[in-house]
Amino acid sequence: MKQMKVMKFGGTSVGKPERMHQVAQLITSDSEPKIVVLSALSGTTNTLVSIGEALLKGDKDAANAIIEKLDIHYQQFINELLTNDVYRQKARNIIAEHFEFLNIITRISFNEALNKDILAQGELMSTKLFSVSLEEKGIKHLLLPALDFMSIDANDEPQVNAIRAKLMPILRSHEDTKLFITQGYICRNARGEVDNLKRGGSDYTASLIAAAANCSVCEIWTDIDGMHNNDPRVVNKTMPIEQLSFEEAAELAYFGAKILHPTCIWPAQQEKVPVKLLNTMQPEAAGTTIMQEAGSVGVKAIAAKDGIIAIKIKSSRMLLAYGFLRKIFEVFEKYRTPIDMITTSEVAVSVTIDNASFLKEIVKELEPFGTVEVDLDQTIVSIVGNDIAQTQDILSKLFESLKPVPVRMVSYGGSKHNVSLLIPSAHKQQTLQLLNTGLFGL
Ligand code: ASP
Ligand code: MG
Repeated sequence: MKQMKVMKFGGTSVGKPERMHQVAQLITSDSEPKIVVLSALSGTTNTLVSIGEALLKGDKDAANAIIEKLDIHYQQFINELLTNDVYRQKARNIIAEHFEFLNIITRISFNEALNKDILAQGELMSTKLFSVSLEEKGIKHLLLPALDFMSIDANDEPQVNAIRAKLMPILRSHEDTKLFITQGYICRNARGEVDNLKRGGSDYTASLIAAAANCSVCEIWTDIDGMHNNDPRVVNKTMPIEQLSFEEAAELAYFGAKILHPTCIWPAQQEKVPVKLLNTMQPEAAGTTIMQEAGSVGVKAIAAKDGIIAIKIKSSRMLLAYGFLRKIFEVFEKYRTPIDMITTSEVAVSVTIDNASFLKEIVKELEPFGTVEVDLDQTIVSIVGNDIAQTQDILSKLFESLKPVPVRMVSYGGSKHNVSLLIPSAHKQQTLQLLNTGLFGL
């Protein structure tokens, strides 16, 4: 079979009729065989979530009102997207079926499986509308139902092998087709029900398909020109990163380098498929390529994550004792609260969490182990780059740049590609700007 590429377009890239036309242009600008993954039109999934919320509360009137408004939105979209009456009618009939389904759901007793069905409507509608639009343009393609091959196991985890086993025979039976369109986000669970890969999961779909079908590249198209070396909303000057290794990208992803869904990287990494982040508004721009090789040594990017809570447990009983850390970690495990950073001294340990749901309970259970101090409103600043932990020069520049900042924690050596700092959020802008100048000369 010929090698294919994956092109994924998010909600904003298909959220307006003119943007959808632009996507049609982008996917036909070369003759490479491809699988195109689409999100729902921007805003749709949020709206579907609110329908489920209204039904959960038993507020059918509210649900119906939201559905009616969404229906109008799609009618307008169809009128703008298509010009020929035959295709307009075809699209109206398709969309009417989905709204009929939503209307039926409001009348039967609501449950979680039904909620997943509601959430799936967005991607089903966007891909079908896009397909009709391609038809109107005379562009040959095949709509592949993601529910026929995209699956999660009993632990709600997708498995590349299981997806491959279903996807490859489908692709092989359409050897002559060069353009496939499919839904992001949606899948079937182990019970065969409609389910999804969680919010923002279309990137994950793209990466899973790219891995399962051994694609040449997994292109993620958004309206930003790739990952930047620093947060453009916070500092004056940033630049796109041309090449990142999977490991570097994974370090950055946690920090809500928003353009890439954090969990979406592993399938592509496992099968060594490069992931390209490209900009629909600037299709010629190089964007960012994430691949096996880092491309260069040194600092690539600085990323920050707010809303961090630091917890310090101080106890002389920790001195020379074993098992102390285990007891502390068990408290976090009990409350299913992930720890992000850890630093220790002989008599104290500091950890950070970003989920405060069980903070009170955690603190209460830690108190028997020592004095517990909690600092709210902290920010993790992470400096990511290939082998930076081995580059002496970077550390000296780093601490030189940070002289005016009250650094609360430093995590160094956990990975070769990362140095992380914890600072009070009030100092975030200052820190990012100082590092931008100190490490990038920007
Ligand atoms: N439509 C889904 C969401 O909004 C999936 C995605 O866009 O990636 O979360
Ligand atoms: Mg998205």
